[in-house]
Amino acid sequence: MKTVAIVGASLAGARAAQELRAQGFDGRVVLIGEEPHLPYDRPPLSKSFLAGTASRESLDLVDADDLASLELRLGTRAERLDPSTGRVVLSDGELEADGVVLATGGRARALPGAESVAGVHVLRTLDDALALREELVPGARAVIVGGGFIGAEVASTANALGLDVTVLEALPTPMVRVLGPELGGICARLHGRNGVTLRCGAGVAGLSAAAGRVTGVQLETGENLPAEVVVAGIGMVPAVEWLEGSGLAIGNGVRTDAGLVTSLPNVVAAGDVAAYGPAGTRHEHWTNATEQASVAVANLLAGQVVREYEPSGYVWSDQYAGTLQLAGHPAPGDEVRFAEGGPDDESFLATYHRDGATVAVFGLNNPRGFGRLRRQALRRPMPVG
Ligand SMILES: Cc1cc2nc3c(=O)[nH]c(=O)nc-3n(C[C@H](O)[C@H](O)[C@H](O)COP(=O)(O)OP(=O)(O)OC[C@H]3O[C@@H](n4cnc5c(N)ncnc54)[C@H](O)[C@@H]3O)c2cc1C
Repeated sequence: MKTVAIVGASLAGARAAQELRAQGFDGRVVLIGEEPHLPYDRPPLSKSFLAGTASRESLDLVDADDLASLELRLGTRAERLDPSTGRVVLSDGELEADGVVLATGGRARALPGAESVAGVHVLRTLDDALALREELVPGARAVIVGGGFIGAEVASTANALGLDVTVLEALPTPMVRVLGPELGGICARLHGRNGVTLRCGAGVAGLSAAAGRVTGVQLETGENLPAEVVVAGIGMVPAVEWLEGSGLAIGNGVRTDAGLVTSLPNVVAAGDVAAYGPAGTRHEHWTNATEQASVAVANLLAGQVVREYEPSGYVWSDQYAGTLQLAGHPAPGDEVRFAEGGPDDESFLATYHRDGATVAVFGLNNPRGFGRLRRQALRRPMPVG
């Protein structure tokens, strides 16, 4: 293999480039990214970078050595892939590659009708974070639509910056799909304890605006919540549109086998865009993107599946001066047991149980205890959830 093209110059893409070198590939590596920025880390965009306490440089995912060992094509969009020839059609030319890593992640889902209304934001990119940061001024009223990880983190940052924050969650409990009702309920209480209003079961009917600027969020009940800033934290859509016609299987992401290899052995996928295994499982977490890049590259270089992906299921989130950590794969119906502390404490550890086995570990504000419990309780690889 002489040339590997990596499409998507963010976490999975940057890690894939580093893994190619670490795993002995000495050919040409071309990293293609449509954003104009050097690869950067996204988690701080809703936390320290949004709060203005982290610099742009602290987000860098590649160093000078990495840059010296690859060809970086920034501000370049991949528009088409012909997997049989390895030809990638770019917005500014074409590239022939023997191997391709698909690492295009996804795009933030926007609120319907928000396109031309100032003051309404999504948060996925560095530019999104810069635009939002401008508007997080003390005393302003912010409505966050979506009580998932990103919504909760933006709420927490905006609250710390002195805004009056309301979070709207469509489900009865925030993060119920990831954490289940019991621990999701505890996350809900974090908002209240910190002076943020959480409204669950709240359906959004639309936005109200005057002179092209948002003035509030209309609920399905007819109520209007006044707001100077609105942030949609309502998930993302995998960036696969450019692969239409490529012949690759697409469905909630790029479909791959258990080794992250697509229907063609010279095309692999990693990160938020990869839908792997028979169930097409897709994760949207930092650790997953890093772990998958390593497995995808190993299988690409081998020309066959020599490693299957076994997710650790590790996720963290920083909210209100605290850290939430989860490892493993909780599912609806799991029994939750508190291993240290309890649901009303500022810090606790809990485990999830199913069919007599511990399937996940959760910690609030106890990173050391979490690490210990995780090692003890999750010795065996977790089932893919
Ligand atoms: C605000 C925020 C906070 C987060 N916080 C946490 C956290 O606390 N903990 C955690 O575990 N995870 C967190 N995550 C999730 C984590 O950052 C993602 O899982 C990770 O960024 C996925 O990396 P990726 O490379 O797969 O995709 P992405 O980061 O989405 O990168 C994909 C890149 O591909 C580019 N691209 C797309 N299409 C094309 C194309 N056709 N041609 C060229 N380039 C293209 C995109 O512009 C983008 O730069 C957070 C995410 C966000 C947005």
